[in-house]
Amino acid sequence: MPTPRTRGSHRLPAPPAALRGRVAVAAVALGAFTAAAYGGTLTPSHTTDGVRPLADTRDANAAFGIGGDAVGAPEVLPIVRGGDAATEAQKLTASEKVTSELAAAAAAKYAEEHRPLFVKPAQGTFTSGFGGRWGAFHYGIDIANVMDTPIVAAADGVVIDAGPASGFGLWVRVRLADGTINVYGHMDTFSVHVGQHVRAGEQIARMGDRGESTGVHLHFEVWDPSGKKINPVPWLNARGITL
Ligand SMILES: [Zn+2]
Repeated sequence: MPTPRTRGSHRLPAPPAALRGRVAVAAVALGAFTAAAYGGTLTPSHTTDGVRPLADTRDANAAFGIGGDAVGAPEVLPIVRGGDAATEAQKLTASEKVTSELAAAAAAKYAEEHRPLFVKPAQGTFTSGFGGRWGAFHYGIDIANVMDTPIVAAADGVVIDAGPASGFGLWVRVRLADGTINVYGHMDTFSVHVGQHVRAGEQIARMGDRGESTGVHLHFEVWDPSGKKINPVPWLNARGITL
């Protein structure tokens, strides 16, 4: 039989591997555990499944199924605890990364489901409306801004023209699913090609003053499915876009 020794004189051998997890759990669940293992008093105020409050060092040793004759300061528990803490920290970091990625994916899905289906084709000053102007008829609206201001697709559609056009300098025409055609004119450059699918808000060109133009601006037209040029303002307004 081992001879009972005074508190603090026990050397604690390394607990069996199966016990280390319990040690770590106990160490985390009961903040005072280490003190108890070192011979202090554990206040039995918290319990966790499988963890029994320990009254003193001898009980702690009994719970581990360890104890014995060796002499020396305990040195195992802090090492075990530290190692497991690092492992747990790594798991936590990985878990947080997964959570972050899931949140980003959910945000992207939400943005896709709620993306605008109609967008103002360019930022700038509304300088001319649809109708008679200078003895001629103006079949679109003008939005003026500085050279190379981005021009974006006002709606989803397929590019049916992108290149030179009389009076427009350069133009881009986009046919929508319902047969409506959006026309963009006078741009300095364009960045789409015939047959390309574009989405509302996607940049298709940059503002310029090519063709019969009196300054840097976007000339924007809307042709209804029958080919009739209609006033773009109410068309845009009906789709939530104000100029
Ligand atoms: Zn115009």
